[in-house]
Amino acid sequence: MADITPIERTESATEAPLKLDAAVIGAGVAGLYQLHLLRSQGLEVKAFDTASDVGGTWYWNRYPGARFDSEGYIYQYLFSEDLYKGWSWSEKFPSQPEIERWMHYIADRLDLRKDIVFNTTIRSAHLDEATNRWTITTDKGQVIDTQFLITCCGMLSAPLTSLFLGQERFEGKLIYTARWPKEPVDFSGKRVGVVGIGATGIQVIQTIADKVGHLTVFVRTPQYVLPMKNPKYTIAEQEAYKSRFDWLTERLPHTFTGFEHDFENNWAECSPERRREILEEIWEDGSLKLWLASFAELFFDEQVSEEISEFVREKMRARLKDPRLCDILIPKDYGFGTHRVPLEVSFLETFLRPNVEVVSVKENPIERVTPSGLKLKDGAEHALDVLIFATGFDAGTGALTRIDIRGRDGRSLKEEWGRDIRSTMGLQVHGYPNLFTTAAPLAPSAALCNMTTCLQQQAEWISNCIHHMLDNKLKVCEPTKEMEDQWIEHHEETAADTLVVKTNSWYMGSNVEGKPRRLLSYIGGVGAYRQKCDAVAASGYAGFAMRGATTLEEGPHPKKSGEILSTIGARQAAEVY
Ligand SMILES: Cc1cc2nc3c(=O)[nH]c(=O)nc-3n(C[C@H](O)[C@H](O)[C@H](O)COP(=O)(O)OP(=O)(O)OC[C@H]3O[C@@H](n4cnc5c(N)ncnc54)[C@H](O)[C@@H]3O)c2cc1C
Repeated sequence: MADITPIERTESATEAPLKLDAAVIGAGVAGLYQLHLLRSQGLEVKAFDTASDVGGTWYWNRYPGARFDSEGYIYQYLFSEDLYKGWSWSEKFPSQPEIERWMHYIADRLDLRKDIVFNTTIRSAHLDEATNRWTITTDKGQVIDTQFLITCCGMLSAPLTSLFLGQERFEGKLIYTARWPKEPVDFSGKRVGVVGIGATGIQVIQTIADKVGHLTVFVRTPQYVLPMKNPKYTIAEQEAYKSRFDWLTERLPHTFTGFEHDFENNWAECSPERRREILEEIWEDGSLKLWLASFAELFFDEQVSEEISEFVREKMRARLKDPRLCDILIPKDYGFGTHRVPLEVSFLETFLRPNVEVVSVKENPIERVTPSGLKLKDGAEHALDVLIFATGFDAGTGALTRIDIRGRDGRSLKEEWGRDIRSTMGLQVHGYPNLFTTAAPLAPSAALCNMTTCLQQQAEWISNCIHHMLDNKLKVCEPTKEMEDQWIEHHEETAADTLVVKTNSWYMGSNVEGKPRRLLSYIGGVGAYRQKCDAVAASGYAGFAMRGATTLEEGPHPKKSGEILSTIGARQAAEVY
């Protein structure tokens, strides 16, 4: 390890706080890699997770039908060829059990579990301003004293619960998809209701429809869906994707979304016939490519958005046939791609089954849960034995605001983000020195990127920043207010160019009452974001004030942060790709 204050070991003093160089919250994709990186630097580091094992998203979301919308071979870590090639996916879009096994493989290969404290929730994290260290407490009463606190809590990890009046008195079985039990759920002969048809609801619905007695799907916001093609891999095909490791390593970090494909077509330069041809070709890919790598103008130009939306609607109409189903299930009032686009296999055909009923709750919302089912505003009641809530997350902020995080001058992150969601590049927050964040608001995130690409980059940036501090005998790192203001301004300018901010979805925090409105994910492009982060690091962390704990010795700041950030916005970035 580089120069760091020697650690007072406390193994024998059971009452004394556990003293660490770094504490990581979360043992999902980000937390595992962050732990590995910091430990490789020689730091004394532990990770903590509420779950009883590794996996994060892939530990909790074990509902029927849960699977990737990213191709498995791009979702893997790319920092080690050996680690990458040592794992073989059985299909293109693997399902949750296989993904969970992959995460176990990672934990085993990197020997991570010995430094992870499971079944433990971090309740609070308070900055000690005298030492600039963090005191964190767990639900088990344990106290940890750490120099660096890195939150790898996930963007989509704080499920929304308590959504409807009366739900605690439901006499049937109520299950949240994001907290699905490990034991199998028996649906045979049961009257099952599903609330929520986002990416998760869609996966559940198409998977359980033929296993239940009767399925009622309550639809508020219809979704554009893309059909998934999910071939099983032969050994030769596994070898083929593995042989592209070098190419993927070069490619993924620099595309607009961290996926393999990028925007290669220009709408204005194509004739209407050529556009149609391209859309049909991409449609055949059976992936998210139509959303994330067809025409970038989709995100900026109302007319292009409408034409591509109509292309998708036409495909959906052809499968649904019934005008009533089309009316309820095909979006009309927002553009394709401005909300998270789900992949599906037989979701639309599910509604043609005799045991499946769709109920629109857009104009006639759910009023309450009754002991025997759901009651709508007009008084209609739906009797249910099982109620499945695929109702989403308090995205981006929720995992952090559920921890009592107090920074300088006693400021509370929950209170501050309750007024305005701010961060510096999603990596730190002004007022909270030595707190680093992954998958946080204002960095590229689940909404618009292949998450492993983004999380690897963020974990590496944090790890390098800490390394730089230790090399330079610097103890405290905090973004300046000026830097944070500039990032937010850039984020807002970039977002304002897009149609995404003109809609209501969890991307904008609209699914949580009272949540300040802001596009949660940075939309300037994964590659462009990486360049900016690299430029900050290369400048000696311009805009991130660093100093010794007591000496107030300033670190190197050769450039003004404004010069570092003043590069391209979303539209220009998309054109560059
Ligand atoms: C159903 C679903 C499907 C998805 N599919 C894709 C996909 O196909 N492609 C893609 O790129 N992304 C997808 N995502 C996004 C997914 O969240 C990321 O890909 C990735 O798994 C996030 O990893 P993470 O480490 O940032 O967070 P997570 O995996 O969410 O892990 C965070 C961990 O932190 C723990 N934690 C949080 N707060 C505390 C606390 N206070 N104390 C202790 N522990 C805490 C949680 O228990 C959790 O285990 C999907 C998300 C969901 C929900």
